[in-house]
Amino acid sequence: MKIMSINAGSSSLKFSLFNMDTDEVLASGLFERIGIDGSCYTIKNSEFKIKEEVELKDHSDAVKILLDKLIELKIISSYDEIDGVGHRIVHGGDKYTKSVVVTDEVVDDIIKFSDFAPLHNPAHAICIKAFREVLPNTPMVTVFDTAFHQTMEKYNYLYAVPYEWYEKYNVRKYGAHGTSHKYIAKKISEVLGRDDLRIISCHLGQGGSITAIKDGKCIDTTMGFTPLAGIVMGTRSGDIDPSIIPYVMEKAGMSAGEVVTALNKKSGLLGISGVSSDSRDIEEGIKEGNERCRLAQDMFIDSVVRFIGEYYLELGGCDVITFTAGIGENSSATRKEIIDKLAVLGIKIDEEANKTRGEVAKISADDSTSLVYVVPTNEELMIAMETRDLIK
Ligand code: AMP
Repeated sequence: MKIMSINAGSSSLKFSLFNMDTDEVLASGLFERIGIDGSCYTIKNSEFKIKEEVELKDHSDAVKILLDKLIELKIISSYDEIDGVGHRIVHGGDKYTKSVVVTDEVVDDIIKFSDFAPLHNPAHAICIKAFREVLPNTPMVTVFDTAFHQTMEKYNYLYAVPYEWYEKYNVRKYGAHGTSHKYIAKKISEVLGRDDLRIISCHLGQGGSITAIKDGKCIDTTMGFTPLAGIVMGTRSGDIDPSIIPYVMEKAGMSAGEVVTALNKKSGLLGISGVSSDSRDIEEGIKEGNERCRLAQDMFIDSVVRFIGEYYLELGGCDVITFTAGIGENSSATRKEIIDKLAVLGIKIDEEANKTRGEVAKISADDSTSLVYVVPTNEELMIAMETRDLIK
């Protein structure tokens, strides 16, 4: 059985094609900087790796190029070889508490829930539609990132606003990145041989969230009603005082929608640095002495550290802090800045171990009060397994 797992982010599309009989990855790759100058894709397996620059106006472009390339590269001989496609979906509202087989209704719901995830759900729907056009008889599954966070207590998922907003309009915290946090909790439990762990899972990518996990279950998470909430992100503001919105609307003559778009697309690292949403560019800017890049990084680090502190208290201590996703897995400089600020809790980094990339690695010093690990996420495998289980 061959399952393709799709993870379309706001500016990226990751795919993995699995042979589920052997768990072998037949091909995987990344289309990046979608909609940004310098877009490119990488397709690789154990025998080759190709990287090409190509114009990627939107996600539709990426899907078409991906499927055609798999045939051209002889990874599959025909589209029929793909038994199922699993799509990671950021937001399933209140309706989807588990993965489901894709129907027209599911696609309509994903579009409907775009209010909750304006950067992601439209991209997911475009991807699903493109795949269904090319593979009309192939079953597809959606794996919702909101599902893992359904174990939060009401006092954690509700906002202190008029209760009828929750009852009438479903205003509550939903969280996101659940597939990744679930995978990380499972993986670190395997590594440490324990299920009874208090984990602070830091998923730091273009979008980022931190989740407090106890005994494998989500207790609290930084993203909220939408993935705009929580820590400072690539283009997203994270938490702000909501009174800023009507104030800026009046001062700048902007509509509510325009202000929220600016909070989603023009804020975060990009908004503060004025240089880029990409943390590699920010790190480069810091090296060149760009003060606004330094400020953007300081604000990012501070937002991460504050939530780690909050969850440390909420969990009553912490056995292990994990770092994952683009920044969390790759940027040893960012990890060091974060961990150095946790010194008051007795959490210490092993600078030599912190150089490790691309594998599960303990990066805390031996006398650190909490363990710190880098754990590469594998949302693709989780998605493929859920897809296989549902289409069997
Ligand atoms: P993701 O959304 O998980 O794909 O992560 C994207 C983010 O990871 C972007 O901000 C990238 O700049 C960042 N990233 C990827 N590789 C590196 C690296 N080697 N060093 C620093 N940041 C990186």
